[in-house]
Amino acid sequence: RAIVRDIDMLEEKNPSIIPKPTPEVDPTVFEKRFLRKVRDLGEGHFGKVELCRYDPREDKTGELVAVKSLKPENREEQSTNLSREIDILKGLYHDNIVKYKGICLEEGGQAIKLIMQYVPLGSLKDYLPRNRNKTSLNTLLSYSIQICEGMEYLGSQNYIHRDLAARNVLVENESTVKIGDFGLTKSIKENEGYYTVKDENESPVFWYAPECLSLCKFYLASDVWSFGVTMYELITYCDSSISPMTLFLRMIGQTQGQMTVLRLVNLLADGRRLPRPDGCSEPVYKLMRKCWEQTPEQRITFGCLIKELKNLLQ
Ligand code: ADP
Ligand code: MG
Repeated sequence: RAIVRDIDMLEEKNPSIIPKPTPEVDPTVFEKRFLRKVRDLGEGHFGKVELCRYDPREDKTGELVAVKSLKPENREEQSTNLSREIDILKGLYHDNIVKYKGICLEEGGQAIKLIMQYVPLGSLKDYLPRNRNKTSLNTLLSYSIQICEGMEYLGSQNYIHRDLAARNVLVENESTVKIGDFGLTKSIKENEGYYTVKDENESPVFWYAPECLSLCKFYLASDVWSFGVTMYELITYCDSSISPMTLFLRMIGQTQGQMTVLRLVNLLADGRRLPRPDGCSEPVYKLMRKCWEQTPEQRITFGCLIKELKNLLQ
């Protein structure tokens, strides 16, 4: 203790002689050796997400985080996409968007992992079928409003999500949802107002608006269409026997590849849409239909959706 006092006195007299403590460690860089896997959380087309404990003290008191990495088969071609997803998420701050925490670099900085907040109840697609009983229509409408609020914010930052679906909305607790998975999110150039897809690797076709399917163009209004399909999923509690894919495939018949898209485009151009689910009231279905207007200009906006959804709350 005497030594400490001596040092303190020395420092007081001459602050420059004591070396500065090591610079603050960057709290957004997670060290791989302290990241312990707890279990798998889920996977999508390109990525997989694991629950990990970040435990630098190595005494199991560290925080739980969700860690997204690319599946090995997608490492090469998708790594720029994951880096882009990280850059986008890093700049987003909204209650209804999953929180970015940082990154973890691996193998000399080649493979990058995205560290985000752990959202404990999983995706709506996992959650809703198991929790029908405690999820009232009002709760579903409230989730819908929250998704619209997150989307309105995303649009205000000039991003198009392009993959809005129940599988990409996470449940924080019984009353709060957050949009996750920004893997297909693109920035729109202000003068153009839309984004053109160049690589046609993968597309969630049954969530896509006609202009996305036939012209590969994505507008903010294309996200509104996908929101309508997402709202349909919510209202049906993500019942897979009447999922958008199941119903559209029933309407067009089982086909493969480009044929599916072609038939879907024709069916939508004929004005056919997902049907009103059993037990869904007419006003709620009307809102979905406003998301599914054929041309982007005719569709309702997220701002108006929020107002109309609030009117439907009891
Ligand atoms: P992909 O880009 O491959 O579709 P996602 O980001 O959608 O990957 O994640 C896949 C699944 O992992 C999600 O559907 C969800 O079940 C789970 N998941 C993703 N992020 C989180 C998170 N932050 N907390 C809890 N579960 C998550
Ligand atoms: Mg996903």
